[in-house]
Order: sequence, then C-alpha cells, then structure tokens
Amino acid sequence: MKPYASRIAPLLLSAAMALATPVLAQQSAPTPPAMAISAEIEATAAALRDRALQGNIAFKFIEGVTTEVGPRLGGTPAEKKAAEWSVAQLKALGFQDVRIEEFQIDGWVRGAESASVTAPFPQAITITSLGGSVATPKGGLEAEVALFKTYDDFLRAPADCCKGKIVLVTQRTVKAQDGAGYSATVRNRSSGPAEAAKRGAVAYMLRSLGTHSHRFPHTGAIRYEAGVPRVPSAAVSPPDVEQIERMAARGQPVRIKFDIQPRLAGPSTSYTVVGDIKGTDKADEYVIISAHLDSWDLATGALDDAAGMGITAAAGKLILDLPQKPRRTIRIIFFGTEETALQGAYAYAKAHPDLLPKVFAGSESDFGAGPVYQFLTRFNPAVLPAFAPLRRVLAHVNVGPGPNTALGGPDMTPFREAGVPVFTLQQDGRDYFDYHHTPDDTLDKIDPKNLDQNVAAWAATTWVLANMDGELRPIPDPAAPRRLQ
Ligand SMILES: [Zn+2]
Repeated sequence: MKPYASRIAPLLLSAAMALATPVLAQQSAPTPPAMAISAEIEATAAALRDRALQGNIAFKFIEGVTTEVGPRLGGTPAEKKAAEWSVAQLKALGFQDVRIEEFQIDGWVRGAESASVTAPFPQAITITSLGGSVATPKGGLEAEVALFKTYDDFLRAPADCCKGKIVLVTQRTVKAQDGAGYSATVRNRSSGPAEAAKRGAVAYMLRSLGTHSHRFPHTGAIRYEAGVPRVPSAAVSPPDVEQIERMAARGQPVRIKFDIQPRLAGPSTSYTVVGDIKGTDKADEYVIISAHLDSWDLATGALDDAAGMGITAAAGKLILDLPQKPRRTIRIIFFGTEETALQGAYAYAKAHPDLLPKVFAGSESDFGAGPVYQFLTRFNPAVLPAFAPLRRVLAHVNVGPGPNTALGGPDMTPFREAGVPVFTLQQDGRDYFDYHHTPDDTLDKIDPKNLDQNVAAWAATTWVLANMDGELRPIPDPAAPRRLQ
C-alpha cells in the first residue's frame, strides 16, 4: 500500500497547487519525471536486453565455476579457489581493477555424519549437520525424540517438554513464488537449537526446510545464543521425517542415535571478489551488481549462487561490449561467506564506509535461475514515476512493476541499512527451495533460456541506473527486516 499512497500524495498536492496558484506551481514543480531517463538511455537499455536474449556468457560462467571449482564453503581453500577463478574470468571479460578482498570469519567444516532410528523400528535415516553446529560426542548421541508438528507448538510446550530429549520439529515448508514459505520456516532452523537447549534438550533436529519430497537433507546456518548450551543440530530429509512420524503414530517412543563430527575451524580467511566498469562524468558514483561467491558444501551451488555470479557477470560483459561507457562506475561484487550471517557483505561495508554514500543503487542476484517477473525498488517514492521508460523496456521480457519494498538481496542488507537505494529483479522461486542448500543444487537444474531473460533484465536495469539523471535517496524504511536466506 505504501508506495501507491506515497505516489498519489504528491500528485494531489501539485493538483491543489495548480488550482490555487498556477504560476507558482509551474515554477516549483519537480523536473518532469520522464526526463530522468532519456530516450537514448532507454534505447540502449532495450538494445542490451535484445542482445542478452540472443545469447550471453551466463551459462558458461556458471558451468565453469561449478565444474572447475565445485562446492566452495566460506572460509575454506575451495572458496579461495573460487575467488581466484572469478578474478581470472572477470579480468578476461574486461572488468577493471579486479581484486580479492580478504576478511576473517569463524570457520566451520562439516565432518562425518550418520543417523538411525534405534527404536521402535531400527533403520538408518538421512540427515545433515546444520551450519555452525557443534559435534556430538564421538560415537554418537542417543535419546528419545520429542516431536512437534510446528515450531510454535514447540515454543508453547511446557517447560519440561524436552529434558534429555532430541527435539524434532516436523513442520513443512510450503512452495511460494517469492519464497515466502521458506521465510516463514527459516527461524525453525536458525533459532531452534538455542530454544531446544533452553528447554533442556540434548540435540535439535528439524524437517529439512526444502520444499521437495526427496531424500535430501537441507543444510543452512544456525545461531547459538550466548550463555545457552550449544546442542548438536541437524536437518532430516522430508521422507525420513514422515517415516519417524508414522512410527510415533504407533504409540511407542521413538529413539534416534546420530553422530555428526563437524569442526569449528576457528579464525579463517574468506574472500570477496570485486571488479569495476569505470564510469565517465559520474565515475565517483557506483551502481553495484552482486552475487555471492560461497556455497554450501553439499553441492556445487549452481542455483545458490553461481547463477547470480553468471547473471551479473554476463550483464556486465554486455555493457563492456558497448561502444560507449556508462556515466557511473558499475561495480560487480561476489561476496564471500554469505551463507553464514552475511559476513562478507558486512565486512565489505565496514571496510569501505566512504563508498556507501556514493552508491547510487545496488542489488544482488541470489534466488536461483528462474525467470524474473517483477522489478521492485526501494527508492525515494517521488522518483518512481521517472522509471516509466525502464518499465517499458522490462515489460518486453515479462517483468512487471513491483512495490517500493525491495530488500535488494541478502548481501545488500548492510548497504540498505546505510540508506543505499536498492532494487530487486524478483525471480520466480517456486522450485528454488526444492534444491537450495541440498546435495541436489547442481547445474542440470538451470534452464539457459531463463538465464538469458535474467541477463536481459539485469543489463537493461544496470544501464539505466548507471546513466540516468537524478538521485534515488532518501529511501523509505532502510532498516526493514531482511528475509533470511
Ligand atoms: Zn544464496
């Protein structure tokens, strides 16, 4: 509702002024919005869009990093290799000042993991450690399971619900085009371990947050709380959760034994990759297009987030191939260690406080490789009518207008919190959580045609933002809560 209200208000105001004092109204009227994006900018954006649809380097880039590097967990040698690979690629594509920026994180590395039901019907189950979890005692941990159908049921359970038990929350994650289902259940994973420990549990498990029905567990980060015991935590694959539910329905206590041996690796170096397309008369202003370099270790991270790297690199390459240069500097960033608490983005923002006020707009592609269907912004509401030319360009690739409530992607969080205008080219994520954070996030899940459409939208939008007149600040509600990834 907010954007429409904000857009109507100035119109009503200027209409009232026109009636009362027509001359004054003319003098004080803002620059006509259509002037901010000239016909020439619109034409170039449309040409970039059409070129993207004829083929681009996005799929090749994704195929390259997933094949030649593979999984690239933040703070590991594999992430370093991904950074070096990306530097070589971006340099070859023609980006300038391509570099790696290092930062320190608390490392975590998965170890051996196994689990089984020991009673009433002994059999193996498929689990995986949640990111950041401590290990079980060597040889494993066995306890009775306390089952909860929803996370709220668990939170509302009596204080003595879980003492000495393994909590297992069996809530499903539902499919949604914009990922709302995952947003609703992600706290089950991030906060569950600490809540279980507060209730005396010895471990925490949950139904994998994936929306699939395959025997793949879905990893992801957890957040322990200071002063609360750290209990070992794992995700169980959806079919295995349903198997445990059937056992429990037969009335006898279910017992699980599991052994996970992840290692808290201590201070580790992580890597963010940066490259520029230098601007001309506004070179000291920046348009950031970004993705994240790291992936979970279970798969090659094709959708999360090699896809974002390929889409943004390809959009940049199309702009590099133009005869003219952008007015603003376009900065491509592949953030390290996004998957645990956006550490790369926060480290980058902290290391470059002078840059933040100079960022004209920014975004991250981090929602897989489905087609873009909506252009969301978080700009000064007064400038929104000026974006009609870009909306026309995007409409040709089936991207419609969205509300002024963009989050800009996870790694834009510290930027947005600092008042940087952000935008989101919202992808159809209906199938994203079938693969995201599972061993099944692999290249074969990507349709190159959808990538072309993404690159078309990114190239056109980036070009417009890098060349238009005006200022997109101040943005509404910079501290809007982010959706966890
Ligand atoms: Zn991601």
